[in-house]
Amino acid sequence: MAQPGTDTNPLRVAIIGAGPSGFYVAEHLLNQPGLNVEIDMIERLPTPYGLVRGGVAPDHQKIKAVTATYDKIAAHPGFHFYGYVEFGKDLTLDDVREMYHQIVYTTGAQTDQRLGIPGEDLHGSWPATTFVAWYNGHPDFCDYQFDFSHERVAIVGMGNVAVDVARILCRTPEELAPTDIADYALEALRHSGIKEVHMLGRRGPAQAAFTNPELKELGELAGADVSVLPEEVALDDLSRAALEKSQDRATYRKLELLQKYAAQKAPTKLRRLIIRFLVSPVELLGNGDGQVAAVRLVKKINASSYPRAWCFALWGTVVSRSLACLSTNVGGSF
Ligand SMILES: Cc1cc2nc3c(=O)[nH]c(=O)nc-3n(C[C@H](O)[C@H](O)[C@H](O)COP(=O)(O)OP(=O)(O)OC[C@H]3O[C@@H](n4cnc5c(N)ncnc54)[C@H](O)[C@@H]3O)c2cc1C
Repeated sequence: MAQPGTDTNPLRVAIIGAGPSGFYVAEHLLNQPGLNVEIDMIERLPTPYGLVRGGVAPDHQKIKAVTATYDKIAAHPGFHFYGYVEFGKDLTLDDVREMYHQIVYTTGAQTDQRLGIPGEDLHGSWPATTFVAWYNGHPDFCDYQFDFSHERVAIVGMGNVAVDVARILCRTPEELAPTDIADYALEALRHSGIKEVHMLGRRGPAQAAFTNPELKELGELAGADVSVLPEEVALDDLSRAALEKSQDRATYRKLELLQKYAAQKAPTKLRRLIIRFLVSPVELLGNGDGQVAAVRLVKKINASSYPRAWCFALWGTVVSRSLACLSTNVGGSF
């Protein structure tokens, strides 16, 4: 038989997972000159695009528009999409080995990192990805119920996912309505009683992982003021020395934005988004009925210190844990 990749024996490739990685792999293979390739993309959900559909925030339509590129790739005659087929359940490694020359796993990072603190599993403590999947209409999460009757929410983490969650919780129904947020999520958020959203970062402002456009956008929310404590945005000696050495322009800009928020006068809008630095949650406290009632926090002295200066609790809280995602074993590898 001819070599795989020729006209008489096309290279048959299974790509497991229809997120951005899968589409870019497909594009790369389909663009190889002289390679005749047949690609089957296998996806456990009925729809493609992975976290572009189920993760990227509904008020960020420009980012979601990247799916037009994936549609072009999918229009190639050598490309076939098979939705609602879960590798490891509907299709085994042996099945796939029989049918394809190559298998590419692009299944993403499907689980969350845990905080590893007492009380983490109390009701009202959610991984951010669960909340995100819910408001994006992900079929595995659309039956979840979130209680927005509390006045205060704590978001643990300082990356762009934490910012997404904070923004969606702070937006007014009028801001959310034109987005492609799930209808049930819009309806639930319409009745939200949330007044304060606290974003909690264990390191200092120079180490915050969120990016500047996302930080700037927070200052443009119609219904929420952004607050930062001036003493928390001041750099400690180690961070200042590191920044002076790196001269990183993005970090300087980030500090500038944060200082602007720190200098803001008394809040005037319906909600407050409070960005806290150098605080770590050490325990979630329950109300006796299995529901989160407070987060116990420790305050750190500087971005690299472990010694704890003092301890306090944020009461009346729902918690969203916005840490890094982890990959799962999808049931087979070579
Ligand atoms: C909340 C959130 C917001 C984000 N916002 C942005 C943003 O604004 N801008 C940006 O650039 N990036 C953003 N990202 C990151 C971006 O979404 C990811 O980097 C990107 O989607 C990763 O692509 P991927 O293909 O590796 O994985 P994924 O997008 O996760 O795709 C993996 C696919 O594999 C499928 N799959 C998993 N297991 C199986 C199985 N066993 N069988 C078949 N199929 C399976 C999944 O259903 C999924 O469709 C965000 C991420 C999150 C979580």
